[in-house]
Amino acid sequence: MADIIQLLPDHVANQIAAGEVVQRPASVVKELLENAIDAGALNIKLIIKDAGKTLVQVIDNGKGMSVTDARLSFERHATSKIKNADDLFLLNTKGFRGEALASIAAIAHVELKTKQAKDDIGSSITIAGSEVESQEAIVTPNGTAIAVKNLFFNIPARRNFLKSNTVELRHIVDEFHRVALAHPDISFSMFNNGSESYNLPVSNYRQRIVNIFGNKTNEKLVPVDEDTEVLKISGFVGKPEYAKKTRGEQYFFVNNRFIKSAYLNHAIASAFDGLLKSGTHASYFLNLTVNPQTIDINIHPTKTEIKFDDEHTLYALLRSAVKHSLGQFNIAPVLDFERDATLDTPYDYKALKPNTPGVEVDRSFNPFKEETPFSTPKPSQSYTTNYKKEDTASWENLYVGLETKENDHLDFSNIEFEKEESTASIFNDDNQVEQKHTTYQLHNKYIVSTIKSGMLIMDQHRAHQRVLYEDFLKHITVKESFSQQLLFPLQLHFTTQEVAIIKTLKDDLESTGFAFSSLTDTLVEITGVPVSVPESEVSIILEQLISDVENDVPDSHFSATDLLAKSMAKSLAIKTGQSLEKDEQEHLVNKLFACKEPNVSPTNRVTFVTMSVDELDKKFI
Ligand code: ADP
Ligand code: MG
Repeated sequence: MADIIQLLPDHVANQIAAGEVVQRPASVVKELLENAIDAGALNIKLIIKDAGKTLVQVIDNGKGMSVTDARLSFERHATSKIKNADDLFLLNTKGFRGEALASIAAIAHVELKTKQAKDDIGSSITIAGSEVESQEAIVTPNGTAIAVKNLFFNIPARRNFLKSNTVELRHIVDEFHRVALAHPDISFSMFNNGSESYNLPVSNYRQRIVNIFGNKTNEKLVPVDEDTEVLKISGFVGKPEYAKKTRGEQYFFVNNRFIKSAYLNHAIASAFDGLLKSGTHASYFLNLTVNPQTIDINIHPTKTEIKFDDEHTLYALLRSAVKHSLGQFNIAPVLDFERDATLDTPYDYKALKPNTPGVEVDRSFNPFKEETPFSTPKPSQSYTTNYKKEDTASWENLYVGLETKENDHLDFSNIEFEKEESTASIFNDDNQVEQKHTTYQLHNKYIVSTIKSGMLIMDQHRAHQRVLYEDFLKHITVKESFSQQLLFPLQLHFTTQEVAIIKTLKDDLESTGFAFSSLTDTLVEITGVPVSVPESEVSIILEQLISDVENDVPDSHFSATDLLAKSMAKSLAIKTGQSLEKDEQEHLVNKLFACKEPNVSPTNRVTFVTMSVDELDKKFI
């Protein structure tokens, strides 16, 4: 019998191979956008007609191609991105297989116009079903414009298999989102049937997400940042209360490449464990940066799946980073989905803008100056962030008379009918509404305050913890703090292990205002402490901190910072049993509601409850 094996003609081989690369118009969009990015473009325009069935065009201002390269780019396995197999492990480009243009040209009408900046004249090529129809010199801007028309014109079966325009456009928009999210440093625009659907300027990552998904997204995002030796994680997760019924907004990018990974998705899901309503999915926009040698992106022809060398470590790191973010921004407590929205702003000034407490550094601050109280402050004195001169009176007032008044606040005749004007409101008073509300302290433990809907009862110890905690966190992250120097260095003795713990937290402690002159095996010598941390409290604070660390070993810098802030807040917060003056009470109420997450203490305990007039009325039926 005669030999029957023969080589397929190129155009047939190309058509078959095209099936792998190009399933639908969105695949063309992906390949062309990625080529533009690989070419170093800073501005990329995508033009679509009929959901890409008639036209997909990408115009970029990247490096362009020479005349020869323009022709070669349509050959199978023609790529400028790798030269040998080893390069596969050092990839920092999107493409590398050199198949996309060859495949696309096999199944569509393609027009390429391209010019390099160094050349005066560019080149144009038209090609259909792998046949070059023309190649000529033309005048064209720097960069590349590729138009892909009449997709699958020569494979009717494939063309008939395409879904409705709505579905195909959805796929295109998904690809556009993925690419645009991975590259906020590139400006993108997209036109669909002649009208502009996206215009995304160069921006930071949060802004890019907001520009794509709408302004409302901004408030939903919780930042995630973790930098370890094997992995850098940055990006955002969506707050649990905004979780969606569909899995739409879930994005992993590894070294700027969108990937799908059920395994890593599971890591996120487990970080949200217990926080989501059943049947909903958290959103995330996370960038993972890893050494390219530790991943293999070659296992999938369209490259949305990759293989990691050490998936288990990635899983653990990712899960803990997301958990810490959710914890640090105190998302967990907002899990009461049925909660009354009016609780968010307990006073009746929802329309007014809150005065964000500013961090202002008084560079002339001199702890040795006479008028600055250098004497040991009272244990409960607030660690304050606001050093504006005019404000000092109010924070100092907060603690006036702490020792003198003990249990005289249960005198109801004194309080019941009293109305006081609030001066230290956290809200702007622009609208001239005179604000009156009353607070009083119950059993030296709770502060009761009137609010429009009824009343609010606040736990003073937990509320103050929340206030201090957010202040400390801010200081540690901003790395700007106020230290008061001690006249004589404070020497504290610890075990070797304890000193080791202090060493790991030294940087963060310094960010809050501590200064160490030496940290030996068993001796800690302190020359400065945060302003308003009394010297007498220092050893208690450090001991508390050490025991907190021992009980909850932080596995990342993130949680160590958080733990330090929590621990110090716990040590310094006003205790249950302390009586507070009226203005101290009001100040605390205002401070609490200036916090990001006033509803709970740093350890997720409720800080206040409210009772509406309606509820009270019911009790009097
Ligand atoms: P790959 O991207 O895998 O290398 P492609 O078929 O997508 O393969 O592209 C082939 C080659 O054509 C690329 O390696 C690149 O050199 C060149 N090329 C494609 N698109 C562009 C573009 N927009 N700007 C500059 N060069 C391009
Ligand atoms: Mg490519």
